[in-house]
Amino acid sequence: MDQPKPDWLKIKFNGEKSREYVEEILRKLFLNTVCEEANCPNIRECFNRKTATFMILGRYCTRNCTFCNVQKKIPLPLDPEEPGHIAEAVKKMNLKYVVITSVTRDDLIDGGAEHFANVIKELKNIGTGIAIEVLIPDFQGNFNALSKVVEAKPDVINHNVETVPRLYPTVRPMAIYKRSLEVLANVKLMNKDILTKSGIMLGFGEKEKEIIEVFIDLRNAGCDFLTIGQYLSPSKHHHPIIEYIHPDIFEKYKRLAIKAGFKDVASAPLVRSSYHAEQMLEGFLQNDKKD
Ligand code: SF4
Repeated sequence: MDQPKPDWLKIKFNGEKSREYVEEILRKLFLNTVCEEANCPNIRECFNRKTATFMILGRYCTRNCTFCNVQKKIPLPLDPEEPGHIAEAVKKMNLKYVVITSVTRDDLIDGGAEHFANVIKELKNIGTGIAIEVLIPDFQGNFNALSKVVEAKPDVINHNVETVPRLYPTVRPMAIYKRSLEVLANVKLMNKDILTKSGIMLGFGEKEKEIIEVFIDLRNAGCDFLTIGQYLSPSKHHHPIIEYIHPDIFEKYKRLAIKAGFKDVASAPLVRSSYHAEQMLEGFLQNDKKD
C-alpha cells in the first residue's frame, strides 16, 4: 500500500526512563517478549509503564502467519528455567497483571501446554494475587493439552482468531478458524469461571459483514473480551496493508461488539491483544462486584 501512514497511527511518546530497566531484566533472565519480537508499536509506552508480554517456548515459530514478525525457524529445546525466570522478572518489575504468550510449537506433542502450566504455577507461587492472562496457540485442537492450561487456572485465557475466515489461507495458512473457536468454547466447557478473550486485526481487506459474523461466532463460543486493532505490516515481505481503518470505524465496531454481548471491548488503531489488558479484567471485576 503506497498510502502514507495516517496521523492517528503516528505515536508521540517521550521518556525512555524505564525502558532500559525492563530490557535489562529481560536480558539478564534470558527472557523474550512478543513486544520486541513482533515489533509492537506500543512497546515504549508499555515498557515505561513497566509492563511487558512475555513470550515463552522460544523465539522460533513452527507456523507462517503472513502478518507476523516472529521468526519462522526450527525451534530450540524448551528452557526448563524459563518459568522460574519469568516469576523472578515479574517480582523485579513488581507486576500485578502478567500476560504470557508464546510462539506455536507444533513440533511438541502437547504444543507446550505443560510449559504454560508450569509458568502459571510459578507465578501463583509468588503469592501476591497477581492476575494472569495467557495468550495461547490452538495446540492443533489437542484438548488434553488445553486442559493442562485450564487446570492451572489463569484468570484470562486469550486465543486470537486474528481475521475473518475467508482470509485465513493468505493471513493464517496453518490455522483453522473453526478450530480456534473450539479452543475458546472448550475453555468454557472445562472451567466456566475462566474469562476468555480473542482479538482480530483490521486492514487485510475484510468486509463489515464478515467482521460482525466473527463477533457472533465468538459470542457463540462464550468469548467474554475482544480486542480490535489496525494491522501494521512489519516489512514489505509480510502481508500488505489493504486499508487503514479510521478511528471512528473502530468506535462503531466497539459499539456493535458490545451489542453482540462482549463484557468488554478494546477497539482502536493501536490496540493489541494485551494492550492495557489489566483494565479489561479490572473493569469486569468492578462491574461484577456491583451486580
Ligand atoms: S503462530 Fe503466532 S508466533 Fe507463529 S507466526 Fe503465527 S502469529 Fe506469529
